[in-house]
Amino acid sequence: MTKSKVYVLYTGGTFGMEPDLSRPGNPLKPMELEKLKKSLPEADLLAPGVEITLDKFDHLIDSSSMNPKDWINIATKIGEHYAEHDGFIIVQGTDTLAYTASALSFMLENLAKPVIVTGSQLPLANARTDANLNYGHALQIAGYKATDLPCIPEVIVVFADKILRGCRTRKMSASAWTGFDTPNCPPLGEIGEHVRIFENQIRPMPPSGLELQVHTTLNSDVLDISLYPGMRAKHLKQILNLDDVKGVVLRTYGTGNAPEETDFIEALGDGIGNGEKIVVNITQCPQGAVEMGLYTASVGLIDKGVISGGDMTPEAALSKLMVTMGTRIGAQVKLQMQISQRGEQSQNLFDFNFKTITTPTDEPRSDFVVPDRRFDPTALSAGVMRMKNLTVKLDEAADEQAKVAVDRAKAAAELAKTTVELAEATKTPVIDLYMNYPTAKAEDGKKEIHPRRLHRIKLFGSTTFDVVQTLPREKMKNIIGDSDIVLTFVPSPGVSFKFEKLSLSMFTRAE
Ligand code: ASP
Repeated sequence: MTKSKVYVLYTGGTFGMEPDLSRPGNPLKPMELEKLKKSLPEADLLAPGVEITLDKFDHLIDSSSMNPKDWINIATKIGEHYAEHDGFIIVQGTDTLAYTASALSFMLENLAKPVIVTGSQLPLANARTDANLNYGHALQIAGYKATDLPCIPEVIVVFADKILRGCRTRKMSASAWTGFDTPNCPPLGEIGEHVRIFENQIRPMPPSGLELQVHTTLNSDVLDISLYPGMRAKHLKQILNLDDVKGVVLRTYGTGNAPEETDFIEALGDGIGNGEKIVVNITQCPQGAVEMGLYTASVGLIDKGVISGGDMTPEAALSKLMVTMGTRIGAQVKLQMQISQRGEQSQNLFDFNFKTITTPTDEPRSDFVVPDRRFDPTALSAGVMRMKNLTVKLDEAADEQAKVAVDRAKAAAELAKTTVELAEATKTPVIDLYMNYPTAKAEDGKKEIHPRRLHRIKLFGSTTFDVVQTLPREKMKNIIGDSDIVLTFVPSPGVSFKFEKLSLSMFTRAE
């Protein structure tokens, strides 16, 4: 029979607790390992062929006392015992289990073996307990070589009838057996009479030759702030301005919305400064994602430099921020935060910033960006262009042309007795946007359809406005190769333009 070696680390938590008879009311406290061993069933009985190395924390704790130092301790122990074990089980309290699972996911890079975080709602020593089952299932999955199950090279949570991705997990119930779930991600497996692992959901093995890297530098100068109606802008400003606050997870409403009041937005902008502090936007909703720019209530946040946390859980966003700020510097932090590292978010977001045009021009203008190597255009799911303060000036002839177009559109609407959007007006002056076609010229505008034209900004007079535009995804997929992204703006005759900011937010499916 094939044997499998599993490292089990007992840190405390309800799993190993017993009533403290020395204190009034006999509250639960973790029992020492030697005592726990007496109730712990033989590994071989729960998972035939599995042998364990049992280790413990120096101070056994209720998980509500856990902090990043404890995560470092756990990650270090995994690193030390990595070579001679097939899998790892961390037994801890359920209260902060989702935080530990998330933090370990980011701290362990190139993980090629299962790391399981589990605990229980009732102590192992109780006659009626879930501890036995959770522990037994964790042993079967960690000792996959002996039990003939697929290897899950991820940090996972095994609890009740579920096998869950660690960095997606949340504690959903304070007392139900099924205490955990991953609301934004399907489970990696199910446990009933059989242990079923959904192999198509599991992350791939790291490329061969890449060894486990244990990141133990975490920056815990971070805050987790949840918005609520009535939150005072001045309080937010004071907190953000504290010198030793370097990053914030901001739990906003719905798809990432916040109050639009100037005070509030200014407070955020003031705190973020020139990007010295990182503010990550995640939703307060138990399920769903932040989609900044969808409502005007989130546009202000983008302008101030708030970054998107996509559909990350608060636990994942916070621990990812700590690890990323501990291991990266400058713009890299922002880039990394918006890209999936361990399957913690469903979408990657790449923000590309292009040169502004400060002096009005009536000529075509191009600029390019070189995307990060992780940007995969074949996985493109959406692209949004944002221009701030696009100022257009129409000369007399162009202005006249615009007026005629508007009048004709109105007349057409009258005739058809339907509303015709002004944007439907034809032959009005425009600014055309082309992708990867730097030689585009006004002539190209005559073609009704052009394979490289992504958008046409119709102009009805001289004015200043912001543009937020979703660009045609399939067209972009065909145009973008594996090199630069070039954007070219071409004004029609008689139109001059300038703008203050131009960015392209490209979303790609995370694997
Ligand atoms: N307070 C306990 C802990 O987190 C709760 C539990 O383990 O279920 O350590």
